[in-house]
Amino acid sequence: MKIYSFKNSTFSIFSMVFLLWIFNNPIIAGTPDLVITGMSVSPLDQYASNSVTVTVTVKNQGDGPTTGDEWVSIFFNLEDMPTTSDNEGNWGEVGHLEPGNSVNVPISNNYYSDFGVSEYGIFNIHAYVDFDGWVDESNEDNNTYGPIQVSWIQDPAVDNYNWPIDPDNAPHVLSAVPNEPRQTTRMHKGIDIPKVEDTPVYSVSSGKVRDRETEGDDAFLQTKGTQFGYDDCFEYYHIKDHEYAADSWVCQSGKQIAKVRDYHDNGSADDHLHFNDYTMHGDPVEGGTYYPTNPIRTFGLTYTGDSNSPVIDQYYLRVQKDGTSDKISVDKIKGKVDFIIAAQDIISYNKRMGVAKICFQIDNGDWHENVILDGDRVFNDGASTFLYCYDCTDEFSNVPYNDDGKFLFYITNNITDPTGDFHGYFDSADLEDGQHTLTVEVTDYAGYTDTATFNIIVENSASMEEVKK
Ligand SMILES: [Zn+2]
Repeated sequence: MKIYSFKNSTFSIFSMVFLLWIFNNPIIAGTPDLVITGMSVSPLDQYASNSVTVTVTVKNQGDGPTTGDEWVSIFFNLEDMPTTSDNEGNWGEVGHLEPGNSVNVPISNNYYSDFGVSEYGIFNIHAYVDFDGWVDESNEDNNTYGPIQVSWIQDPAVDNYNWPIDPDNAPHVLSAVPNEPRQTTRMHKGIDIPKVEDTPVYSVSSGKVRDRETEGDDAFLQTKGTQFGYDDCFEYYHIKDHEYAADSWVCQSGKQIAKVRDYHDNGSADDHLHFNDYTMHGDPVEGGTYYPTNPIRTFGLTYTGDSNSPVIDQYYLRVQKDGTSDKISVDKIKGKVDFIIAAQDIISYNKRMGVAKICFQIDNGDWHENVILDGDRVFNDGASTFLYCYDCTDEFSNVPYNDDGKFLFYITNNITDPTGDFHGYFDSADLEDGQHTLTVEVTDYAGYTDTATFNIIVENSASMEEVKK
């Protein structure tokens, strides 16, 4: 609208008066019309303990300025555009806007709890400028915007999560534990939960589906959190019928994510869910040296079904010259040596399982606890050659167990060294020559033990005399 014009160059008294009148009454210049031209939410995916910032772009597309009292409000989890009868969420101040001008209004500290919902998931945010109707606008029906969708995600689990199998809060039976040898010098990094095909698999935590392989034996899924200062991740193997696409969020624990598949396509004989926990110790894919976490550590999952003690082979003791595979007779021990014993844990399904702890003593002296396997950490593949003896059996080659299935453990190597220097030995020079007693105690994950005693004969002075000659 044109307010005035000068039709010729001559200033009239009328024109002067009119101009003065305009300067004292600017409202005559026109009427504002507030609209929202854009809105963004940062971040779009957020954990429940954090907040998001909503930035609303407000424009005055009218031909008069606003007075400066305007607000823009946001609304949480509405189905439709907000109306004046909806409950306003948070708001920000728009301020004075000349005709044609825009302003970005940040509204921060918006939390999951603002949304008044009981589940985590994807929810709408709408905006409404001048919700209270304080500004007289040329159009009052163009003040809303939205929705933008924000994903609210349950904070990821680290400890005390539930089972990925129903019932999720009661113990299940296992058919394999962490740190058992697999094939040549590979370690089992998780737990095996024997369940038949089509058993539903549930998420133990929120997480983003990072990798998704739907075909074959190793069909698996990783859910991975990214915002807590560490790379937490859970892996579910030998599954099918994935419920979530790659890069989508599993917004909370307890959601069905897949089903157990027919492992090896041979019926139900060996179906199981293999479950890995990578919380606390790093990234399972991007990191070069990493350790998963033991899912059945003290603050992890509790399993059931193991009421049998582990078993030590009372007749198997191998002594080797430290750092070599050279066998030494148990009645001619000298210098630094490694002791190797054979043991296993039997649980249900008649499966051979790894043990949780091995310690030994000489002549009722101090216990040496060099082998502890049920702590937080699962060992990387390199540790396998320090824990299991692959050269110690005549029956098989490159497998660390004897002909009745007992694992062959080095009990003198220091598998507990936090720096990863697992090399260790027993120095027989600390003993008098003659007969001594080696007592070995093995503990399984359920706390049952077995003990075996071996007679050894130390002959260090004999070797010394040989050197003197
Ligand atoms: Zn497994």
